[in-house]
Amino acid sequence: MKYLEDFQNPELAGGLLADIRATVTRPWALMEVCGGQTHTIIRHGIDQLLPKEVELIHGPGCPVCVTPLEVIDRALAIAARPGVVFCSFGDMLRVPGTDRDLFRVRGEGGDVRVVYSPLDALRIARENPDREVVFFGIGFETTAPPNAMAVVQAKKQGVRNFSMLVSHVRVPPAIEAIMNSPDCRVQGFLAAGHVCSVMGTAEYPALAERHRVPIVVTGFEPLDILEGIRRTVRQLERGEHTVENAYARAVRPEGNPAALAVLEDVFEVTDRSWRGIGVIPRSGWQLSPRYREFDAEQRFDVAGIRTREPEQCRAGEVLQGLLKPDQCEAFGTTCTPRTPLGATMVSSEGACAAYYLYRRLSTPGVPREASPVG
Ligand code: SF4
Repeated sequence: MKYLEDFQNPELAGGLLADIRATVTRPWALMEVCGGQTHTIIRHGIDQLLPKEVELIHGPGCPVCVTPLEVIDRALAIAARPGVVFCSFGDMLRVPGTDRDLFRVRGEGGDVRVVYSPLDALRIARENPDREVVFFGIGFETTAPPNAMAVVQAKKQGVRNFSMLVSHVRVPPAIEAIMNSPDCRVQGFLAAGHVCSVMGTAEYPALAERHRVPIVVTGFEPLDILEGIRRTVRQLERGEHTVENAYARAVRPEGNPAALAVLEDVFEVTDRSWRGIGVIPRSGWQLSPRYREFDAEQRFDVAGIRTREPEQCRAGEVLQGLLKPDQCEAFGTTCTPRTPLGATMVSSEGACAAYYLYRRLSTPGVPREASPVG
């Protein structure tokens, strides 16, 4: 905890806030890309401490939230099959599909297991050669390397009853899509530090130049966030638009070469649909032809599933930064963590979950009784 507390020091936070106040002269809208950053901001009230000129817009960087409904429905269809062991990280179990979630499938007899690593799923496959074991491989560039390694190990060990339902997404194409949107108000980005610890920063200078937007690689503790904001505001006030690394203790410009090598081997870039947003070109990964035999979508026939989003849910606008969660009419009333209408209300990185956890008591019209989060 010692090192974490160093990055939560109130005096240092006060100094950074004073610097931001002294620098800002006009309104700026910054987007924090990652849902982990959103939770830090809302939990510590950072957005409420900033000068009124600085607005924080919450971005689409919650991997659970952007996993498309059709992939969730495919996961539900596969998990419900006899003979299948469906393995997933815990926060996918409550994500609503069209008419149920993985918890419901488990309640109806499906063998759905929470694992803490894709290698756990691989072990289950080795121990159960008569069962088909499927791992739900979702997430950004951060979670992709261990998932890729599990596939490499499955191939090396000849574990043929293991497969992966892949829905990986990439951050830079999402930034490009946000900047190309006619409704875009974002003037600067706090880029997700953990993504850059894997990928490095090479993809960002062209984005910053093309859209004339500062991009500051930012960490996840309160002082990290304030430092990212301070540097972004300083650039905006000076009329600059460069890439800065404010998370140098974890991020090197070249990223993690070993992780990049395994990603290059196992995945290939593909167009990917983002829940509530739509298809973003070249924004995802799928298994490369060398590893396609481990693709759960090819192994199980799950085509032709019809999906339907609840009409009330405005998660797509939340994920694009067009709406704050407490501006959604369903927030805290018909939509709670116990009765979620969208994934952003159940994910530990979802913006709606963050507002429910830390802001519902100050939101007019929301009952004061707590509904558990997660
Ligand atoms: S509060 Fe619920 S219904 Fe509204 S956008 Fe968030 S998840 Fe969707």
